[in-house]
Amino acid sequence: MTMETLEFQAEARQLLQLMVHSIYSNKDIFLRELISNASDALDKLRLAKLQDGLEADTSDLHIEIEADPESRTLTVRDNGIGMTREEVVELIGTIAKSGTAELLTKLKEAKESPELIGQFGVGFYSTFMVADKVTLVTRKAGTDGHGTRWESAGEGTYSIDDAPDTPVGTTVTLHLRPKDEEDALYDYAEEWKIKEIVKKYSDFISFPIRYVSAAGEEGETLNSMKALWARPRSEVTDEEYHQFYRHISHDWTDPLEIINMKAEGTFEYEALLFIPARAPFDLFQRDARRGLQLYVKRVFIMDDSKELIPDYLRFVKGVVDAADLSLNISREILQQDRHIQMIRRRLTKKVLSTIKEMMTGSPEKYATFWREFGRAIKEGLLSEPDNHKPILEIASFGTTHGEEPTTLAAYVERMKEGQEEIYFLTGESRSQVENSPHMEAFREQGYEVLVLTDPVDEIWVDAVTEFDGRKLRSIARGSVDLKKDASEGDEAAEGDFAPLLTFLKEKLDDQVKEVRLSHRLTTSAACLVSDADDITPALEKMYRAMGQ
Ligand code: ADP
Ligand code: MG
Repeated sequence: MTMETLEFQAEARQLLQLMVHSIYSNKDIFLRELISNASDALDKLRLAKLQDGLEADTSDLHIEIEADPESRTLTVRDNGIGMTREEVVELIGTIAKSGTAELLTKLKEAKESPELIGQFGVGFYSTFMVADKVTLVTRKAGTDGHGTRWESAGEGTYSIDDAPDTPVGTTVTLHLRPKDEEDALYDYAEEWKIKEIVKKYSDFISFPIRYVSAAGEEGETLNSMKALWARPRSEVTDEEYHQFYRHISHDWTDPLEIINMKAEGTFEYEALLFIPARAPFDLFQRDARRGLQLYVKRVFIMDDSKELIPDYLRFVKGVVDAADLSLNISREILQQDRHIQMIRRRLTKKVLSTIKEMMTGSPEKYATFWREFGRAIKEGLLSEPDNHKPILEIASFGTTHGEEPTTLAAYVERMKEGQEEIYFLTGESRSQVENSPHMEAFREQGYEVLVLTDPVDEIWVDAVTEFDGRKLRSIARGSVDLKKDASEGDEAAEGDFAPLLTFLKEKLDDQVKEVRLSHRLTTSAACLVSDADDITPALEKMYRAMGQ
């Protein structure tokens, strides 16, 4: 194959435009992205050798950084898995991820939020924030001596060519933009600057990152390579945890909670989990990445292990390092492994108890947590019948009691004398629920009603029957009239209204099942009520929207 000039895919081009015109204030992150790609490539090579028996020398897996102030170049080199020519075109020339259009809108809005770059997995393009030309030379492990050379100025096209005598791995060379005299902070050709960034963002990378001077002598290792999850909590600073969190989550907001776990005995594992402070943009997208990182005795095995944490806790980030798993473990085996199931149960329990502590210990943090992740948590009421109690205990709901959400425990505390059930009403919005005719008598008589307006609320209320021995009761369904319908006065009234009821029943025959006299209204003349086991109007609408 010879040299070709190819065009970036449309989304990639747009993204590059944003990078070239560098709208971000923190440009340092480009180096973190390159190191993170190099580290991934080293992990992949080690794994290919272990799992697929690929013949490769993995005795000195490392990353090298070389800066040359003279030529104003910065080079990041790894001896990892490398890429074939096809892979370079596919991986570097396009953005395969879904939600790219949405990403671009968000990136344009979020000028000061470099975290979004990594979150969407477009890390490599961030090099164009600091370089006006980027060259990548690579050879895939297990292929013969010639590799591939990719080069671009980030302006719509790139060239790709064969590269003879390329060693296995990938070398990325940035031709740095002219020095900005006013801002020495951005001089990425300087040794001190490189050292500072590596220490700050990539200290825990598990392969040595070596600095090579322009003179070419063997460099010093810049990072400590310490596996953070294996170190006692007391020896690690919050800043170190936060950097690590950024590395695995690509979220630049510090997490709300850091959870360390260590199990010894027949099945040993260590876990380091984070509860983020912000929901990712794709929390409710089906194809979003989720799950924890899995290591076996410090060796990275896989990202996105969904088996380690239930779906409703998918926002939890972190690492599990299990000592007794096989390095060859596949996703299929993970699903059935009973140790993995045990870890998942323990992690779930720990996350729920941490949230509960947060609720009492730092109510403000909890309020943030619930605002960001409450909707996801409530899905657990559908998937995990065994955990109804702990999930309900950490949940909050809108209420007619006030503006702030309430816990069920607080609701129960406030229940009126003689009130036995927990009342709720579902709907599309707070105002819709509050103005519902069903609400009238309850408001009038001072009963508190939970205001449930998330789509998932329609569904879980059918799965959960009680909290703390008290039934959850929809005020829109069945006969929850506050005074008994069949009292004596009613019979008399029923007589008075009998002709009207018969008339209405005839008129509305094919639209309603029954016309009943009721005490649930005070100012409205009539309202529609579902049978206790009918589906609610909103659920009906949802099913209809789904084509059922
Ligand atoms: P992400 O790392 O989130 O996938 P990037 O834009 O950083 O996104 O990289 C795109 C892809 O290019 C990577 O997924 C990887 O397959 C490939 N890649 C990038 N850098 C390297 C490298 N140093 N070695 C091997 N593959 C690489
Ligand atoms: Mg990357």
